[in-house]
Amino acid sequence: VMNGAGGAAARALAALKRYFGYDSFRPGQEGLVGTIMSGRDVLGVMPTGAGKSVCYQIPAALLPGITIVISPLISLMRDQVDGLNDAGLNAAYINTTQDPDEQGMVLAQAAAGQVKLLYVAPERLETERFRQFAAHVPIALIAVDEAHCVSQWGQDFRSAYLGIGEFIASLPQRPTVAAFTATATERVRRDIVTLLGLRDPVVTVTGFDRPNLYFDVIRMENKHKAAWVAQYIAVHPQDSGIVYCSTRKETEALAESLNSTVLQLRAAAGEDAAQSEPIAVAYHGGMLADQRGRAQRDFVTDRVPVVVATNAFGMGIDKSNVRFVIHHNMPESIEAYYQEAGRAGRDGEPSRCTLLWNEGDIVTRRRLLDTDNGNERLNPEEREVVRMSRRRLLDGMIGYCRTTDCLHRYMTRYFGEPDDGRDARCGNCSNCQSTFETIDVTDIARAISMCVHDVNQGFGSGKIVAVLRGSRAQDVVSRGLDRCPTYGMLRDVPEARVRDVLSQMATDGFLFISEGRLPTVHFGARAGETRDEGFHYEIKRVERRHGNAAGHGGTSRR
Ligand code: ADP
Repeated sequence: VMNGAGGAAARALAALKRYFGYDSFRPGQEGLVGTIMSGRDVLGVMPTGAGKSVCYQIPAALLPGITIVISPLISLMRDQVDGLNDAGLNAAYINTTQDPDEQGMVLAQAAAGQVKLLYVAPERLETERFRQFAAHVPIALIAVDEAHCVSQWGQDFRSAYLGIGEFIASLPQRPTVAAFTATATERVRRDIVTLLGLRDPVVTVTGFDRPNLYFDVIRMENKHKAAWVAQYIAVHPQDSGIVYCSTRKETEALAESLNSTVLQLRAAAGEDAAQSEPIAVAYHGGMLADQRGRAQRDFVTDRVPVVVATNAFGMGIDKSNVRFVIHHNMPESIEAYYQEAGRAGRDGEPSRCTLLWNEGDIVTRRRLLDTDNGNERLNPEEREVVRMSRRRLLDGMIGYCRTTDCLHRYMTRYFGEPDDGRDARCGNCSNCQSTFETIDVTDIARAISMCVHDVNQGFGSGKIVAVLRGSRAQDVVSRGLDRCPTYGMLRDVPEARVRDVLSQMATDGFLFISEGRLPTVHFGARAGETRDEGFHYEIKRVERRHGNAAGHGGTSRR
């Protein structure tokens, strides 16, 4: 057995070298390849760019028979297939860009055993012609890329993915099935296993930690952000970076202001500011294609060091020396943040990912969730499901902003990657560098908890704060809330502080804020803990580090 496994591992490594020119596997790849080779189903959870493709391409090369790769993105098929053929692996695709004759030719070649990897979109599996084909060729492996598209709980549900399980079941002989995704949500992972009909799969979560990235979370009022970003760029003149904004308008305004302020800052620092080259260029989906193309080229070729972009920027952009990614606002999910921030430091060099946020982002994001009607083909019930799952994703993002835990660990835990007992403190994030102070808010948290009890979990956070602070507002008095035992209990605590503690308690599971147009505050799963004698609660002190972008702990280039 030892010998067999060793032999398979050696063969896999040889194939990695021969076809892809790499000397070693990345974390997780070897295990996934080995498991697939042994005939067992897998669910590989890896971030985008971690190298999922070779995990099924190597088995495809080594196993007898054909591998069918199901991929949602027709536009990427050609490039992938061309790359494989250049590497000496026979690959082909069938999609709607081809006419029926062309499609027939590809199928004939594949049936004649001349194709090792066949790329198709999920819709293809429903066609009679393809079913006929599949029933008559030896299929070694079915690889499902972007497998989360099968789940309605995911962000990119695609109904044709629902047909994959049935397609597999209809085959005369069941091939091994390997599914891949970058999603963290437990619910989505479960859907992948059941809906694709994976059999006792080995689930591997790997590759999420990016040790060369310095993660940094700064809470900051909107009005200070532009100056902070300008200052950061001014003191890192050599660095290439991306600033993500949430709206098109913001990207243009910020790029324009950066182009003037950064030069002024450099001039003030006595540097040669005579250069006329722009420092920042905007990029968003509303720009004309050639404008966008130019912006992208200028950035990728280092003619312009900084791109200020919406999340439309990044797909398919391969720039390895991005030294910083700054988020001007809080994104909608950790998945989105991780993907965007992860564009920093692809070359493995120290790089920095900074998230600027404030409570207003949470309000905006929640409002967007409530008003977004989403996919029109969904019925109201399904929409509600999507909204709830998005809400949960947002909570994960809010948790990242508020946590005092190591940010690297927060991230890997979020994605469910086992953390081999590493030291809890990475030393390479703003939390581990303790660039914040904490405030003991145990008493405030207890008071909030009691007040939620007083009002029978029947009011929103605004009322709770008003009661605790002894407000004389009419709707407090008229409802008799001024007779609550906790009325006025936090009279001497600033309102913003009470609000902060309340929101963090919701993030941490002590409270639960119901959804809908009139959200009310309820007890969360951990509510009981606030009554424990040893209960202790802290929040981060609001950082006042704006305008001090130079002093940024152990970051970038050393
Ligand atoms: P994913 O599908 O997970 O987004 P890809 O499969 O496209 O990622 O791989 C991302 C990049 O990493 C590709 O350029 C790929 O060639 C490269 N890559 C994959 N495996 C390795 C490896 N073992 N060593 C070096 N580079 C690798």
